[in-house]
Amino acid sequence: MEDLKNWGVFLDDIPPEGLKIEFKDISNLGDDLKVKKPFSGYLKLKKIGIEVKLEGSLNGVLSLECDRCLTNFDFPIQHEFKIDIKPLNSLNIEGEKELMEEEMEVSFYENSWISFYNILREEIFLSIPYKKLCKPDCKGLCPICGTNLNKKTCNCKIYKKESPFAILKTLLKDKNLEKGGQ
Ligand SMILES: [Zn+2]
Ligand SMILES: [Zn+2]
Repeated sequence: MEDLKNWGVFLDDIPPEGLKIEFKDISNLGDDLKVKKPFSGYLKLKKIGIEVKLEGSLNGVLSLECDRCLTNFDFPIQHEFKIDIKPLNSLNIEGEKELMEEEMEVSFYENSWISFYNILREEIFLSIPYKKLCKPDCKGLCPICGTNLNKKTCNCKIYKKESPFAILKTLLKDKNLEKGGQ
């Protein structure tokens, strides 16, 4: 697989009319990103002074590990983004004020080099939810015996008592019984 770490463009090589890069079959994005279906998309760059306005789109499928049951699941990503890319040395000068002005994402380049590799990685990481779940109601693993509770139930009663939902259910049941319901 080709090394994508050197994939990018020098600021000087962006023509006045802008630059559009289309890409496909991108899968080698580092060991921390397991790519199930390679990424495709585009990057459009427009140079304005020392800043670059970037618009992009990416499409692919990652394999993520569920935070609860630790099994791998497919996570499709379809993501469109706009980034203001500024020189890294402007970070200290302009400070937080600039960052707060717009909702726009800001990224930085160093030594006149804009790394597409880093941009794609950043955007993919931004698309991954904070809580990674194979399904919204994943039951997770039993903390006592380690059984994947999506697949089968175990007899560890402590887990069931600890679950707030289980308690709530029991309470609701009791209430219904009092009322003569089911
Ligand atoms: Zn899960
Ligand atoms: Zn168990």
